[in-house]
Amino acid sequence: MASLHPTIVLGGGFVGLLTVLNLSHQTYPHPILLVEPRDRFIFKPLLYELLTGEMHPKQICPAYTELLANRQVSFIQDRVQAIDLQQRQVTLSSGRFLSYSNLVLALGSHTTYFNTPGAAAYSFPFTSDDEAIALRNQLQNCLRRARETPNLEEKMGLLTVAIVGAGPAGVELACTLADILPVWYDQLGGDYEDLRIVLVNRSGEILKGDINNRLRTTAQHSLMQRTIPIELLLEAAVNEIRTDGIAYQQQGMNHFLSAATIAWTAGTEPNSLLKTLAVAPEHRNRRGQIQVKSTLQLLDYPEVFMGGDGAYVAEAPQPATAQVAYQQGQAIAHNLLAIAAGRSPSPSQINLRGTLMKLGIGEGVANLFNRIELKGELGHLIRQATYLELLPTPAHNFKNTTEWFTDSLFQRHQPRSLNANHYRRTPLLAGMTAAMVSALIALPLAWRAAQPQTFQETLSWTGVPALLDRWTPRQQ
Ligand SMILES: Cc1cc2nc3c(=O)[nH]c(=O)nc-3n(C[C@H](O)[C@H](O)[C@H](O)COP(=O)(O)OP(=O)(O)OC[C@H]3O[C@@H](n4cnc5c(N)ncnc54)[C@H](O)[C@@H]3O)c2cc1C
Repeated sequence: MASLHPTIVLGGGFVGLLTVLNLSHQTYPHPILLVEPRDRFIFKPLLYELLTGEMHPKQICPAYTELLANRQVSFIQDRVQAIDLQQRQVTLSSGRFLSYSNLVLALGSHTTYFNTPGAAAYSFPFTSDDEAIALRNQLQNCLRRARETPNLEEKMGLLTVAIVGAGPAGVELACTLADILPVWYDQLGGDYEDLRIVLVNRSGEILKGDINNRLRTTAQHSLMQRTIPIELLLEAAVNEIRTDGIAYQQQGMNHFLSAATIAWTAGTEPNSLLKTLAVAPEHRNRRGQIQVKSTLQLLDYPEVFMGGDGAYVAEAPQPATAQVAYQQGQAIAHNLLAIAAGRSPSPSQINLRGTLMKLGIGEGVANLFNRIELKGELGHLIRQATYLELLPTPAHNFKNTTEWFTDSLFQRHQPRSLNANHYRRTPLLAGMTAAMVSALIALPLAWRAAQPQTFQETLSWTGVPALLDRWTPRQQ
């Protein structure tokens, strides 16, 4: 029986998109509406590849019309302005009102500047395709101006990039820029040794308190090994961002760092719409996230589900990451289907499979199940392959994987490196790497097929059996 009102999903990021894709894939009996202001999904972990040109924008930001083609999902390109949980009604920017039977809150998070003067006006955030492109335009413009100016002081400022915040995004952005800027500047005839990248952080260590914390030593090493070694400015409290640099305090002294480009990766906070919801203060945490049950339902509104950066489960808190959001989207769809079939929703099971970081062009690190660390080019290949596997919809996934493997082997989109020691790629090396990855995957698969019990017992501590079960489920 069709319900009176549709199920409405607010926000088409990881949680929202995965919810509607899973619902439509499993023939959910009720109408599904997805409300999202953008026309394209953003696969945020690959924004660095958008900035450098390593991947095509369409691979990283596919259009919703493409992702939702032939699916029973109505896409409304609009912005949510207000949500009335008691009246079960949503107001959109266009003035339209929508009533729902079930609601999914998947509104994500946005950049916060901690009220730092000048930060919103003069720094470059890095959370969307538009922001990645704006940063690239700014950097290329500065490099061009640096080539033209006869003024040495102005040139040094134009060639200095400061990145505020040494969390994962700051570290990954710094490593990426330290490899790509020399290529761009070299193409303009400049001397890459004049470039400077400074990573500014309030605390004394990078990746502090982050899920990637155990990769700190590897990340620190990579920061130093880039084409331009990255300067770390630690225990530096940023007081103000100006058009020409950063005013900060370090060990009680005031300093100023001249930099024409300042990227801001210092923090995010849950979508501000969440502040307006009729949810009790005791069901919110200090970050502004809203508490949900393990089934991902709001405590006082069982018809409303929520996941991703804006939600927390008190009994099993999870980091605000894409891999959590992705799985929560699947879990929400599973529970909506259960309710539609007259069953009770079940607790969501989130499996953290480790973390992945980009540490330069063609270089990365994969921390599998907090037990195995694979770095360098192999880390890069695993990161890329994992993300391509996660890209939504099988058709999109297949297309990108094929394109990426071709690029990897034949070096399309590979910016020319100036530091041959780090990532010079020959077809032979690429072929060997692909062969290594194939062997790494094929050998355990063969063992698992021949001796499933011994394989499980011997390797369960490594997490490899679980990983293989997820990638290539066993034939029963
Ligand atoms: C540069 C960068 C790199 C990252 N790298 C990694 C990584 O390597 N690994 C990892 O696990 N995680 C990574 N993350 C974090 C990850 O992307 C987020 O945790 C994840 O996107 C959260 O998913 P979500 O569905 O909660 O929110 P989002 O994916 O942000 O989706 C929220 C959606 O809501 C929409 N929206 C916002 N306001 C409204 C409104 N008023 N009305 C309607 N819709 C609205 C937005 O347009 C967006 O589409 C990275 C994030 C960034 C910024």
